[in-house]
Amino acid sequence: MATTKPSSASSRSSSARSSRLSFTKKELGDLRQTLSLEREQLERQLETIEENSFAASRSDLSGEVAFDDETADAGTATFERERDLSIENNVRDLMQKIDRAVGRMDAGTYGICARCGKPIEKARVKALPYVDLCIKDAQAQARR
Ligand SMILES: [Zn+2]
Repeated sequence: MATTKPSSASSRSSSARSSRLSFTKKELGDLRQTLSLEREQLERQLETIEENSFAASRSDLSGEVAFDDETADAGTATFERERDLSIENNVRDLMQKIDRAVGRMDAGTYGICARCGKPIEKARVKALPYVDLCIKDAQAQARR
C-alpha cells in the first residue's frame, strides 16, 4: 500500500508561527495560580515522604534486631523506601516542570512547544499547565 502521506505535505503553514500567545492575561493568571497551588501540594507531599523515610531510617538504626524475624521486615522497609524514592523523584520532577513553566510565563514563551515551537493545544495546557510539549511531540517522546 504505497500511498503518500497527506499530513506531512500540508503541515507547514505560516499561521501557526505568527499566532504566538493565545492566552489572555486572565487565563495566564489562573494558570499561574494553578501551578503555584500544585507546587504547594507537591512540597507538602515531599515533606511527608521525607518524614516517613526519616522515621524509617531511625527505627532501622535504633534496633538491635534479631535476624530471623527482621529479614522480612527489612525487605519490606527497603521496598517502601524505594517506592518512596521513586515517588519523590516524580514529585521533584513535577516541581521542576512547574518551575520551568512559571519561568516560561515570565519569559513570554509559555504555551509554546519546546520541540516544534508551535502553540500547545489550549485544552491540553489547561489540563496540564506545566506541559512544554504539544500532544504530537509528547506522544513521540513517550513512544521512545
Ligand atoms: Zn510540538
